[in-house]
Amino acid sequence: MSGVLTQLVDELNRGTLKVVDLTQPLGPSTPVIGLPPIFASSPGMTIDVISKYDDKGPAWYWNTIRMGEHTGTHFDAPIHWITGKDLPNNACDTIPVSRFVGPACVIDVTGDVSRDPDFLLTPERLEEWEAEHGRIPGGAWVLLRTGWSRRSDVASFINAREDGPHSPGFDARTSKVLAEGRDVLGVGVETIGTDAGQAGTFDPPFPNHATMHGAGKIGLASLCNLHQLPPTGAIVIAAPLKIVNGSGSPLRVIAITPA
Ligand code: MN
Repeated sequence: MSGVLTQLVDELNRGTLKVVDLTQPLGPSTPVIGLPPIFASSPGMTIDVISKYDDKGPAWYWNTIRMGEHTGTHFDAPIHWITGKDLPNNACDTIPVSRFVGPACVIDVTGDVSRDPDFLLTPERLEEWEAEHGRIPGGAWVLLRTGWSRRSDVASFINAREDGPHSPGFDARTSKVLAEGRDVLGVGVETIGTDAGQAGTFDPPFPNHATMHGAGKIGLASLCNLHQLPPTGAIVIAAPLKIVNGSGSPLRVIAITPA
C-alpha cells in the first residue's frame, strides 16, 4: 500500500482523522422541493415491505423504494439542467469517478443567514473568505455552511411564504466565479436545492443551476454536519448511484477530516 494510504488507515484507527456523515436521514418524511403547480412535481420517498421474515420471505427482510432522483441529501449531475444537457459525461453513470472526491472549502455564513434567510454569497464575501483561508483550489467542493440543516421541521426547512420559499444561496456572479474562475468540482448546500429559495424570480432563473451545470459542475443538496468540518483541510466523497442517464441521485456524502 502507498505510504499515504497506510497513514490514512492508521490515522482513522488512531482517531486523529475521523469520518463525518454529511447526510440527512432518508425516509417518507424527507421534504421534497415544491414547484409552481404548472410544473410536474417530484415525489417524496415511499417504502413498501416486500417481505420481513414472514410468509412472503421467511428468512429475509427487504423493501421496495420509490422517489424522485432529487430527494433528501442528493447529487445534481450536469445533465439535470438544460445548460448541461449536451456536455460529455454529464450523467450519473458517465461522470468520471475521480470527480466524486475532492478537498472541501467550507464557507461559514451562519451568522448572515440568521439575520437574513434570503442571504446570497457574493463574490466580495467569497474573496473575504479567500483572504483568510487561501484561494479555492481547482477541483474543490465549495460547501456553503448556513446552519439551515438545524431546521428539522419541514415548514421551517422550506420556509415558504405567499411569494414562495425563502432560503439562502449564491449570487449569480459567485456561481460564475466558482465554475469558471476556480474550476471547482461543484457546490454543496444545507438547503433543499443549490439555488436560493427565491431564485425562480432571479434573472436568469435558478442561476446557480444554470451556471454550474452549464460548466459541467456538480451540485450537492440537503447536506448536514458542516459545522464539524474546518474551513479547509477535509476531503469530501460524494458518489451517486450509477443510474443510467440519471440526472441525480440520493447518496451518502462523507467527509474525512482532522479530529
Ligand atoms: Mn437537485
